[in-house]
Amino acid sequence: MDLIIGSHVGYNKNDGLLGSVKEALTYNSNTFMFYTGAPQNTFRLPIDKNITEEAKALMKENNIDINNVIIHAPYIINLANRANMDFSVDFLKKEIRRSEELGISKIVLHPGSHVGLGVEIGLQNIIDGLNMVIESDMKPIICLETMAGKGSELGKTFEEIKTIIDGVKLNNKLMVCLDTCHMNDAGYDMSKFDEVLEEFDRIIGIERIGCVHINDSKNPINSHKDRHENIGFGTIGFDTLSNIIYNPKLKDVPKILETPYIDKEYPPYKHEIKMIRDNIFNSNLLDEVREDYR
Ligand code: FE
Ligand code: FE
Ligand code: ZN
Repeated sequence: MDLIIGSHVGYNKNDGLLGSVKEALTYNSNTFMFYTGAPQNTFRLPIDKNITEEAKALMKENNIDINNVIIHAPYIINLANRANMDFSVDFLKKEIRRSEELGISKIVLHPGSHVGLGVEIGLQNIIDGLNMVIESDMKPIICLETMAGKGSELGKTFEEIKTIIDGVKLNNKLMVCLDTCHMNDAGYDMSKFDEVLEEFDRIIGIERIGCVHINDSKNPINSHKDRHENIGFGTIGFDTLSNIIYNPKLKDVPKILETPYIDKEYPPYKHEIKMIRDNIFNSNLLDEVREDYR
C-alpha cells in the first residue's frame, strides 16, 4: 500500500513553502503540514509568488501531491470564546486567503475552548464563527481536529464535532482531522480502532476524514492531557498505531506525524517514517536519531 505520510515541518520567512518542501524531502515524506507563521502570534509576511512556484515544481518532481499538503491554523484562534470572536474570525479568514495563495486545500483547525462558558454555548459560538468565516467560493476545506479535552477544549467527542458540522450552513467545506494522541487522551480505545472507526462512521461519516495526525501519547487513555510521544514509545504503542496507519479505509487520507523532537533538538521524522514503512517497531529509534544528527 502506498502510504501518504509526512510530518509537521517548519515554514520560515526567507524561503517560505520551498523550505517546507525541502525539509519534508529530507524525511522521505510524500506530504507535510506547516503553520504559515508562528502559531502563537499573528505576524505574517506576504507570500512570495516565485518561491511558491518553485516549491510546487519541487513537489511535482518528487511526487508530492499538493492536495495532500496541510496547513495548521494557529492555535490563538478560538471560535468558542465570544470575547475574541472578531479577531478569530478575521484571522481565520486571512489564513484561508493565505492557503489559497499557496494552493493548499486543507486547513486543520482546533474547534476551540469554551473557557468557562460551558459546552453548549461554546459549541454554538464555534458554529456562529464558522458560519461567518466559510464562504461558498472558498477553496480550502477546514478539517476540525479531534481534541484531548484538556481544560475546556471542545471537539473531544465525535458528538461535539457532529453538532458543529450540523450547525454550519456550508458544511460541505468541513472535514475532520483525527489525532490519535488526542483521541486516546479523550477516552477512545485506539487498540479497538475498527470499533472506533465504526462509531465515527455512524455519528459523522467516514468520508469526512480529511487528515490523520499520528502521535503516540505520554498519558493513559482518558487522561485529557495532550502530550505527544514518539511512535511506539507511548501508551498507544506501535502495533495499534500501525494498524491505524495501514487501515485500508484511510488509504487516501494523509497521515501527519507531530511527535516530539528527541532531546528537544533532533527531528525524529525520517526515522519514524522509515520505521512505519518497514512496519516493524525499532526500539533503538531514539538513539539512532541522536547518532544521526550528532
Ligand atoms: Fe492540532
Ligand atoms: Fe494534532
Ligand atoms: Zn496535541
